[in-house]
Parts: sequence; C-alpha cells; structure tokens
Amino acid sequence: MEHTAPVNPWVALAYLVAGVCFILALRGLSSPATAQRGNRLGMIGMALAVGTTLFAHHLASPFEIGVAMAIGAAIGIVTARRIAMTDMPQLVAAFHSLVGMAAVLVAAAAYLNPGAFGILGDDGQILTVSRIEMGLGIAIGAITFSGSVIAFLKLNGNMSGKPILLPGRHVINIAVLVAIVGLVGYFTQDQSAWVFWTITGLSFVIGFLLIVPIGGADMPVVVSMLNSYSGWAAAAMGFTLHNSAMIITGALVGSSGAILSYIMCKAMNRSFVSVIAGGFGGDAAAAGGEAKEQRPWKRGSADDAAFLLGQAEQVIIVPGYGMAVSQAQHALREMGDKLKEHGVRVKYAIHPVAGRMPGHMNVLLAEANVPYDDVFELEDINSEFAQTDVAFVIGANDVTNPAAKTDKTSPIYGMPVLDVGKAKTVLFIKRSMGGVGYAGVDNDVFYMDNTMMLLGDAKKMVEEIVKSLD
Ligand code: NDP
Repeated sequence: MEHTAPVNPWVALAYLVAGVCFILALRGLSSPATAQRGNRLGMIGMALAVGTTLFAHHLASPFEIGVAMAIGAAIGIVTARRIAMTDMPQLVAAFHSLVGMAAVLVAAAAYLNPGAFGILGDDGQILTVSRIEMGLGIAIGAITFSGSVIAFLKLNGNMSGKPILLPGRHVINIAVLVAIVGLVGYFTQDQSAWVFWTITGLSFVIGFLLIVPIGGADMPVVVSMLNSYSGWAAAAMGFTLHNSAMIITGALVGSSGAILSYIMCKAMNRSFVSVIAGGFGGDAAAAGGEAKEQRPWKRGSADDAAFLLGQAEQVIIVPGYGMAVSQAQHALREMGDKLKEHGVRVKYAIHPVAGRMPGHMNVLLAEANVPYDDVFELEDINSEFAQTDVAFVIGANDVTNPAAKTDKTSPIYGMPVLDVGKAKTVLFIKRSMGGVGYAGVDNDVFYMDNTMMLLGDAKKMVEEIVKSLD
C-alpha cells in the first residue's frame, strides 16, 4: 500500500492548469508573431505553480520557501541584468547545473527522510517505484550538474575549449554507465546507503568524463543536450514529490531540449552519437591557417559599400556573432529601411547556429523591429545568393565558410553554410583580417575577387554606411 499524502483536488487542478499554460507557452514561442503571448502564458503558469506550492506544501513553511525564493530571485535578477547577450550560453549552462543539483538534493532529501515524502511501504522500506525514481533522478541530476559545470568552464574560457581526450575513455565511460544502470537496478532490491551514494558519486564522475572530451565547436549541442537532461531530472523529481506540474514541465523541457539538440546536430551536419563520443574541434585553430595573410584581398570604405548597396536590386544581409557583439541590429534595420526607400529588395538570411545560441539572430533582429517577412532560414534562401547583387555579411564568419563544403580537413566540414560567395558582390564586415570565428579557421570568401572587406566595428561601419546613403 502506498502511504502518500492525499492530494487536494484544487492543488491538482492548479498544477494541471499551470501545465497547460506551459504547453501553450511553448506553442506560442514557436513563432515570432506569437512569442510574446507565449512568454506571458509561461509566466502565468510559473506564478500559478509557485503560488500553489507555496500554499499547499507541507514539507516547509511558506516563510522558509519565501526566503529561499527571495534569495534565488535576487541572484537571478542580478545575474540576468549583468550578463551580456553574448555570454548567454554559459549562463544557460550555469543554470542547468543548478537544476541538476536541485534534483540531486531532492533525491537525497527523500532518501534520508522517506517518511516525510510519503514514500514508505508497509514494511517500512522505501517503495520500489520511488527507489527507481530516486535512482534515476539522482543519476540524471548529478550528470547534469557536473556536465554543466564543465560546459560553463569551457564556454567561459576558464578551461580550454579543446577536447581533452583521456586514453581508453570510451571503455571507461561505458563501464561507468553500465555500473550506474546496474546499481539503479540493484537499488530496487537493496536500499543500503552505499548503493545510493555510489550511484551519486559515479554519476558526478560520468558527467565530467562525458563533457571533458567534447570540443568547443560542439558546445552548442552539448548545452541543449544538458538542457534536455535537466528537464528529465526535474520530471524524475516531480514523481518523487508527487508534483504533476513538475512532471509536465520536466517532460516539456526534456523533450524540447532533445528535439533542439537533434535540429542543431542536423544544422552542423553532425550525428548525435559523434557529438557525445567527443573529440571534435581539437585541431580547429591549425586547420586552413597556413596560407593566411599572404593572399591578396580588397578593402573598401563605408562610401564604397553605400554606393554598391544603393545600386543593387536585391541585398541579402547575413548577420553573425559580430553583429551581436557590437549591437549593430538597430543600425542595420535603419540601413535596411534606407535601402528599401532606394527601391532595393532587402532580405535577411539566418543560419541555424549563427551567433552563440539558438535563435540568437532572430531575437536581435526582432528587438530591432526587422519585419518577420524579411527574415529567411538557410534552406529557404540559400539558392537566392546566385541571383543577388550584394551579400552583406555582418560579423558572421563560420556560417559563410565554403571550406565546410570543400575541405575535408576543416573542423567545420559538413556543416551547411550560406553560399554568400555566389552573390555578384560580397561586402564583409569584421574588425581585422587576423580575427577568426568560433571554429578558429580562415575563410576563403575574404580573398575572392568579388569580395570587398569592410574592416571596423560592425555598428560603427553600418552607421557610416547609413550616413553615406543619405
Ligand atoms: P563566428 O564566430 O564564426 O564569427 C564571428 C565574426 O565576427 C568574426 O569573424 C569576428 O572577426 C567578427 N566580429 C567580432 N566582433 C565584431 C565586431 N565588434 N564588429 C565586427 N565584427 C566582429 O560567427 P558566426 O555567427 O558566423 O558563427 C557562429 C559560430 O559559433 C559557429 O561556429 C557555431 O557553431 C558556433 N556556436 C553557435 C552557437 C549557437 O547556438 N548559435 C553556440 C556556440 C557556438 P573579427 O574578430 O576580425 O572582428
């Protein structure tokens, strides 16, 4: 017989409504036009879930929960205000580590005080189903925690972004994973402390071992994969706490993170298994670097650029990480508007991994009120470069690099790229010829006959172009 506390029907209903709000929020977030409504629904759902927990929970007093929330909210608000948009991936990784740790702490609390969680059977032992939930929760939570900490350190530059390859790592990893699965199974038969804490320790270790060999170029996929893990850890906690809102939310985060990882793998032409196996991106800085600087290239000014843009019939703007760094999106929108006044057709081409987080460019362009109808995904616009007068690359690099198609030794080989070189003229904004993108490789487009390099800060350069267009 289960000894769970009776669930108040109003609480169950409130959690259900919160869950529905989260589902509708995700639906809203799927399109820029409905994203704000989606966000609002998400906030309503979260307020409802938190409020219900605050009033219905019997494990801690509302005061205690309130204090914990105030501390968390203060840290969250300060961090979110301080963090630069370009540092968002590491912030996300840091937050995932907290979700992982929360799952570990809840599972540990339930293990140490099963009576309070209502998970004791008639024989005074923890219920079998709860042991499975607890074992899974602690394993996924601990993997999420240590994996996210490593991802944070790599993305934040505190640790080399290069893969660190331990000898025999595949054998070690598989052995540790098999041991964890075996122990979670054994935990259903024997609830001794050594089983529980060994699962915990091994899971912390495997999180570390799994992420350390993954190179910088694969980090976006890793962050989204850890996002998915943190969701499953939360769902497992939801079962332990008999909290349906948490089960729904965890499952939504878990599955959407998994789908995003899959989409990103496809965008970078990497298989999920090869990302997890690690080792990618190690020779990034070396590849393609030799012939650099020696090759001739053309430099242009803002006036030259304004002239070429003003004469064009169609211009495709390709934004990347550099646009985000210099916050050039507002000036860029102004430039687009001016060009439209001159009768030029202006479109924006968004690569799925442009910038440093999924949807990075879409967010910035939306912030600057660029019309959604002018913004196109890679597969919808790539064939148009051949009929375009000017490809205007602003702070993008890797996502335009033809080596991804032609050079098998390139670390980005296989990633689909925007074919900017096919346009009649390429205008390429970056600060210096020496600067490389995320993958650390040179780009043949800089040296093409039809390319004009516009060297300088993206925002300043675009502002000068706007002036010249007057
Ligand atoms: P890149 O990182 O390839 O290139 C950025 C370019 O911007 C560089 O050429 C740099 O050159 C230039 N730049 C930097 N600052 C400025 C500035 N202030 N003004 C003008 N130019 C500037 O960016 P992409 O967007 O092309 O590619 C994204 C890369 O990031 C991919 O490799 C992707 O895999 C990876 N990634 C993507 C994530 C995602 O989820 N979207 C997350 C993490 C990584 P210079 O220094 O000379 O100015």
